[in-house]
Amino acid sequence: MENQEKLDKIVIPELDAVLGKKFKVLDDGFVRVVDYMGGDESIVQAARVSYGKGTKKVSEDRGLIRYLLRNHHTTPFEMCEIKLHVRVPMDAWRQWIRHRTANVNEYSTRYSIAIDASQKTGIDEWRIQAQDNKQGSEGFFGNEEGSKLSQRESELQNFAREIYQERLAVGVAREQARKDLPLSTYTEAYWKIDLHNLLHFLVLRMDQHAQFEIRSYANVIGNEIVNRWCPIAWEAFKDYIMNSKSFTGLELQLLKLIIQGNKDEIVKAAESFGWLKRTEKGLSRNRERIEFEDKLEFLGLNKPW
Ligand SMILES: Cc1cc2nc3c(=O)[nH]c(=O)nc-3n(C[C@H](O)[C@H](O)[C@H](O)COP(=O)(O)OP(=O)(O)OC[C@H]3O[C@@H](n4cnc5c(N)ncnc54)[C@H](O)[C@@H]3O)c2cc1C
Repeated sequence: MENQEKLDKIVIPELDAVLGKKFKVLDDGFVRVVDYMGGDESIVQAARVSYGKGTKKVSEDRGLIRYLLRNHHTTPFEMCEIKLHVRVPMDAWRQWIRHRTANVNEYSTRYSIAIDASQKTGIDEWRIQAQDNKQGSEGFFGNEEGSKLSQRESELQNFAREIYQERLAVGVAREQARKDLPLSTYTEAYWKIDLHNLLHFLVLRMDQHAQFEIRSYANVIGNEIVNRWCPIAWEAFKDYIMNSKSFTGLELQLLKLIIQGNKDEIVKAAESFGWLKRTEKGLSRNRERIEFEDKLEFLGLNKPW
């Protein structure tokens, strides 16, 4: 027994300082940390266990974490776990719950009366349906239209709540009375996940393509919580995943030709990929080509066709 290595529990004072603190999201939602296990140090500890070596210098630890993340050695990141308490409108929760690699307990509206709060949209927050992206929005309604939309939203939410209360008052079972509550109704849950899967959640939900509401939660979890909890892993995640761009094999072929300045060959290659089909109105829509054009724009390069 005397020869056994004494281990201290990994404590992160920066995260302890905000344990239980509610980070506000949307009009009435929040995220707060209930508990956690591990930190940057546990990633290093797990990665080095196979070598039987103890923790090295901080600079070496940073290099190791960055190496692991850059090269998709993901299991050491599963050694860190975090438990969050979240309050989210049901429509955002419906997207959130698709991430299957978490452990969840949600507030039960069979057992308890539904939370009496619905997410309200400010008059300047109504988004216009995007033309190009069927899943997205672009721009906002003006205040006049926005104010009408918010007024009608409020009427709908009040009416739905009133009917819900009426049903409860005459003794309808809670499990049935709830069926017409709007998706804007807030729900609460405990959500426990390891760092590897949390980073996967964040890369998808902090992305510009994610819906604003769930993106707002992801931004808080990333910037306020993971940043405090595992700052080295968070920095590596931003450098190698979130702010990185990947190129497909086809894109790399074209990039090589662009660098060589070989315009005819670029067009020929893109045509062979089926990216440059033409209609009377010009180039027909091709998602892969558009994604490549976006990457070129990001790099400050013009479309070569
Ligand atoms: C912008 C955006 C738009 C979306 N649009 C739609 C939509 O229109 N319709 C829709 O239905 N969904 C949509 N989704 C949800 C999406 O398809 C995923 O269900 C969600 O993002 C969860 O991702 P995931 O499965 O990778 O994550 P998790 O469930 O957290 O899983 C993490 C990883 O674990 C592995 N894994 C987990 N479970 C399994 C399994 N059973 N078998 C094999 N591997 C597994 C996979 O590698 C997976 O990537 C959208 C998501 C985003 C971000």
